[in-house]
Amino acid sequence: MHNPIYPGAEQHLLDGWQRRRLATPGHRLFTGHTMAGTMAGTKAFFDVDDVDPDDDIDGAFSHFGLAANGHFEQWMPIDRAAASDLEGNNYTISVEVEDKGPFFPVWSGSDVPAMTGNQVVVLRLFTRWLIQEDWVPPRIANTSCERGLGYHRLGIDPYRVSNCPKFSQHRGKACPGDRRINQYLHDIFPFALDATPTPEDDEDMFILDCCSDGPDDTGYLIGNGEPIKLTKDERDAYRHAGIRAFQGTKKDYLHIIDVGNRSHLP
Ligand SMILES: [Zn+2]
Repeated sequence: MHNPIYPGAEQHLLDGWQRRRLATPGHRLFTGHTMAGTMAGTKAFFDVDDVDPDDDIDGAFSHFGLAANGHFEQWMPIDRAAASDLEGNNYTISVEVEDKGPFFPVWSGSDVPAMTGNQVVVLRLFTRWLIQEDWVPPRIANTSCERGLGYHRLGIDPYRVSNCPKFSQHRGKACPGDRRINQYLHDIFPFALDATPTPEDDEDMFILDCCSDGPDDTGYLIGNGEPIKLTKDERDAYRHAGIRAFQGTKKDYLHIIDVGNRSHLP
């Protein structure tokens, strides 16, 4: 319980994380964010260490970063306070999610595009793990006062419920945007909570081990978007999260990747 490191992410702890204060013990609030930028740009912006121990903007701003293709990095241990949510920093667990680059249409203002299928798959598994590890209680948060599964805008005026913590000084900030909030509420969080029937979800997502006819022990996560190549540790983490695994041949793999047809699998 309470593992501060998520086994399903690559560890890239950013400079200065050791000097970030410890977060408040007890249940936390997951907050989904949108980068208004690329993974590379956001990471470079966060990866600055100005060596001032009293400085709340020192080091990484969010605990995790998620790229369009599903590449997931941990930037700070969960038991430290990140700096994404202003008055909520002591109890939020934050993920910045990529929204610009070749996977997305050009956009501006508050018109944030939906997350990719791979991002949705990763966030489903991650939020379910947060519940399993007891970092967050198994419920959707409707205000910034609550603990559970939420998003940045809960604490942004004019959406914020008065007397609840303020998560940004920028009134009207859209983060993470209408489409992404909709994905959290209707696709990602219900999966994490098992609040909706899951057999369909499970059918939609599985690990393909490649390959039974070769020495290669690579696994692939097959979901709604492009298949995600997994390291051995990632594959074990997804299995641990309850995702089914099949042993495929190289031919199976190529067929799935090329044609998107997986009907011949068990
Ligand atoms: Zn945000």
